[in-house]
Amino acid sequence: FDQLDGFIWMNGQFIKWAEAKVHVLTHSLHYGGAVFEGERAYGGEIFKLTEHSQRLHESARILGYTIPYSVAEIDDACRKLLKLQGFQDAYVRPIAWRGSEQTSVGAQNNRIHCAIAIWQWPSYFDPELKMKGLRLDWAEYRRPDPSTAPSKSKASGLYMICTMSKHLAEAKGYADALMLDWRGQVAEATGANVFFVKDGKLHTPIADCFLDGITRRTVMDLARRRGIEVVERAILPEELAGFEECFLTGSAAEVTPVSEVGQYRFAVGAISRLLVQDYADAVQPVKTVAAA
Ligand code: PMP
Repeated sequence: FDQLDGFIWMNGQFIKWAEAKVHVLTHSLHYGGAVFEGERAYGGEIFKLTEHSQRLHESARILGYTIPYSVAEIDDACRKLLKLQGFQDAYVRPIAWRGSEQTSVGAQNNRIHCAIAIWQWPSYFDPELKMKGLRLDWAEYRRPDPSTAPSKSKASGLYMICTMSKHLAEAKGYADALMLDWRGQVAEATGANVFFVKDGKLHTPIADCFLDGITRRTVMDLARRRGIEVVERAILPEELAGFEECFLTGSAAEVTPVSEVGQYRFAVGAISRLLVQDYADAVQPVKTVAAA
């Protein structure tokens, strides 16, 4: 993956993909302090670009550093890189990290780096499985208490338990894992938020110790516009027995139905299908009709 053609934006410059390298003593490689985003471009435009760039800045601020490029500069670099790569539909990955000046826990004066890569990634989950519904396992690791970890930052270090949980689930033949939080309440999947359907209403956990996804908020708006009530509340794992449908949301995952979580089964039902389609419509850029 590091030998593709094309370009990567790194610290203000477009450089060849294979030349976008970091030193092995990079602080964030040792201590988990990189922050990143995951975005998608549709029809040549990046969906909710500025919200993502703002969240990148906020993630770094939470970890105690400032990205040396403004939100507008990052937006601009993303747009230019998308054009340079020549893609209409693509995945966009901005990342910022502490450099290699000092590699001990403290890194007050390390340079803050920032890069953006864009590649083609049509589907986060196997497209054939997508509309049949994913099978999820229960994760062993739990989302940490916000007083234990900076849970509002999209920080690389917080993904260690996500990768472990995803790998353990895949080893058992599942597509992903559903994580509880430190209290034992349902939290999210390893890279996406979760929703349930019951009696025509959406139920989703309160995002108080995990990422309040941009897709999560978009889907909540889309549902409300359809007159579907959205209930944010604490959800206990045993309540899954009473839900009819389940789906995941994320910039990469989009809206993906779930057919199983551990012992519980769900239908890929009408509300999931409606929101898959509403989201697919919402991400398309508004076409301005040329004046006749
Ligand atoms: N939770 C986690 C752990 C994620 O990695 C993601 C993907 N960024 C999400 C939730 C969904 O966030 P968004 O909708 O903003 O992509």
